[in-house]
Amino acid sequence: MARVALVTGGTRGIGAAISTALKQAGYHVAANYGGNDEAASAFKTETGIPVFKFDVSDHAACDAGIKQVVSELGPIDILVNNAGITRDTMFHRMTFDQWSAVIRTNLDSVFNCTRPVIDGMRERGFGRVIIISSINGQKGQMGQANYSAAKAGVIGFAKALAQENANKGITVNVIAPGYIATEMVKAVPEDVLKSKILPLIPVGRLGEAEEIARGVLFLASDGAGFVTGSTLTMNGGQYMT
Ligand code: NDP
Repeated sequence: MARVALVTGGTRGIGAAISTALKQAGYHVAANYGGNDEAASAFKTETGIPVFKFDVSDHAACDAGIKQVVSELGPIDILVNNAGITRDTMFHRMTFDQWSAVIRTNLDSVFNCTRPVIDGMRERGFGRVIIISSINGQKGQMGQANYSAAKAGVIGFAKALAQENANKGITVNVIAPGYIATEMVKAVPEDVLKSKILPLIPVGRLGEAEEIARGVLFLASDGAGFVTGSTLTMNGGQYMT
């Protein structure tokens, strides 16, 4: 029987590419989103992938939302924690709200969505937890103390969870993308992109969301059972760990 995958933030950008690639590979996919009903409905029409609206930063909402996914698709075998936001500003100007929104959406969300699925994965003896971090969680980025902290936090989380569940058929891995051509990055003016960003990337171009999705497909596969606690850097050579 086809395995069931839940992708948080799975209706736009990198998450949409992940949901689509998993569906094309034969998984039963559920795509979560937070508030953009228009984008989610267009995505659902285009791909036929069911969408589930719940706020990943809200613990109770995740419990209820994941119960809904399980009742419609069955127990979750593959969880891709992808939803994320930025609230960039220099730390000396950062408000607690900017700090907290990013920590709740990018780090607490990983607890909120992984906790309800881990027991079932342990009982069934199979699971894949994949977390989308960022190059900026590895190297730090000025203007992103909140985001860098959250994205580094998920790497520590993955290593701990991987150790706890390695003997239960569950792997826990991270992908750390560099600059990917989603709407957010495409909004950067062409001249800034050419003069400031591309020179940092040895491959000489932005990454594509589909390239990140291919990394997820590998980590999700039954054949990747010996890979756990790892961070796959996918950044065109910008930062080598
Ligand atoms: P987008 O802004 O294009 O999409 C974000 C997705 O996450 C949307 O589906 C959005 O839902 C969802 N989301 C945001 N907040 C919540 C929430 N509270 N609850 C539920 N869903 C939520 O982001 P990207 O595709 O660019 O980024 C995806 C991930 O990759 C993020 O974790 C990001 O940090 C990471 N990343 C991105 C890079 C890039 O260059 N783009 C580089 C490195 C890492 P809705 O549509 O409803 O808003």
